[in-house]
Amino acid sequence: MPLAAGASSLGVLAIERAGDLGPGACRLAREMALHLALAVDNAQLTLQQRRFAQELEDKVAQATRRLREIDQAKSEFLSVVSHELRTPLTALQGFSELLLERAVPPDRARRYLGHVRGEAQRLGRIVADLLDLSRIEAGRALELRCERLDLAELVERNVEIFACQHPRHRFEGQVASELPPVWADRDALDRMLKNLLSNAVKYSPRGGRVRVAAGLDRPGTVELVVEDEGVGIAADALPRIFDRYVRIPHPDTAAAKGLGLGLHVVRSLAEAHGGAVEVESLPGKGSRFRVLLPVQ
Ligand code: ADP
Repeated sequence: MPLAAGASSLGVLAIERAGDLGPGACRLAREMALHLALAVDNAQLTLQQRRFAQELEDKVAQATRRLREIDQAKSEFLSVVSHELRTPLTALQGFSELLLERAVPPDRARRYLGHVRGEAQRLGRIVADLLDLSRIEAGRALELRCERLDLAELVERNVEIFACQHPRHRFEGQVASELPPVWADRDALDRMLKNLLSNAVKYSPRGGRVRVAAGLDRPGTVELVVEDEGVGIAADALPRIFDRYVRIPHPDTAAAKGLGLGLHVVRSLAEAHGGAVEVESLPGKGSRFRVLLPVQ
């Protein structure tokens, strides 16, 4: 007797008996087959339902975990942001009060003003990164005002600024001769280079050479390179460093401040220009970041 459930067959009921089955026994066997089929079908449905329920429960648990992680990351992010904003503000307040309220000798006043400028610039960079991030988060295109730009001026200016502010490091700028201009937003390019340069300084705490170079990568593409001799980045961490909020702990740079946003912003800005950013790094030897930009 077939054990049928709807159009499909679940199996058969076989009865072995010497001799014929009487019509009563046949009817009984058919009824038994019907009930058996129903029972097997119900059991299978119940099992399926349980599996679905389990899968659903797993998915809900996973989503809840993820939401909790995001919530925690957001709270941590907010506290880091407030701390990051407060630190330069405190320095700005402290130095400006000192300069206003005390008779400070000119050479010391100059040094204090240098600190004020450095902290104001840091504050500016944090705010610019946060603004870029809020645009990226909102899914809005980063606003770019592209124009023909000569990378030589950008490289020279930034090398000079950083060399002035970080005397422990040796800065070198190199621009290939007859480099074609790029089609880029002046401020965005400046933010990208400043982010990469401040990382090169932060993550090479013992000083060392920081090299900025601009050259032709291949016809139609210009590369902007920032190279340092710092702590470097482990190979397994490299794919994550461009993700937002990601910071890779290192004992030598534990004091380095940051929000884990700089490289995310650099990558988003490079991509908004139709370019990209790449990195090579060796732990203990240094890192080399390359921003690739289309020429005009
Ligand atoms: P932040 O510097 O604010 O932490 P970034 O997004 O700029 O954030 O960088 C993410 C992480 O990548 C840093 O925390 C650091 O661990 C690593 N990193 C970035 N640049 C360098 C570099 N030049 N050398 C070594 N590590 C770096």
